[in-house]
Amino acid sequence: MVLSKEEKNIYNKNYFEKNKDKLKEQRKIYREKNKEQIASKVKEYAEKHKDKILEYHKTEAYRKCVRISGWKQHGIISDNFDELYNHYINCWKCELCHVELIEGDTASNRRCLDHDHKTGLFRNILCNTCNSWKTAERKPKKTKEEKKQQLQEYRDNNKKNQKIYGANRRFREKLQAFILS
Ligand SMILES: [Zn+2]
Repeated sequence: MVLSKEEKNIYNKNYFEKNKDKLKEQRKIYREKNKEQIASKVKEYAEKHKDKILEYHKTEAYRKCVRISGWKQHGIISDNFDELYNHYINCWKCELCHVELIEGDTASNRRCLDHDHKTGLFRNILCNTCNSWKTAERKPKKTKEEKKQQLQEYRDNNKKNQKIYGANRRFREKLQAFILS
């Protein structure tokens, strides 16, 4: 039986899913065993392509890559990181206090990705102030009604975003187990 390219892809994907833990373990053992060789190869490669690598570090593609891997390390779960990143990078107002956002590492209005620490799901794009929940003293005073309205908007938005950027089937089991634990 000859498989088409698509069928092969599906087969490979299923095989990987099925044997994920085993394959991961195998790779880990391999890496442990060949630690020095791998390290020297990496070093050699870095030396050889120094200029190219430096050039790459200035690109948008690299920044995106670093950003997304940072999110993953923070436990953010998504079945479409490209879409999430596009949403993130094109958001210029804090979704809670509506302050203008900037790119950066230190400013209080720097752009932050707010996620639910329990589920790993994306919630909102916020300024750092809101993200740290230090909002009360810095924000202009709001009436009780305005606060209520804002909270409601925030919650509705979360529901909407969780639908768009929610976990896929692959993560759902893990997620459910975690929530139930
Ligand atoms: Zn804010």
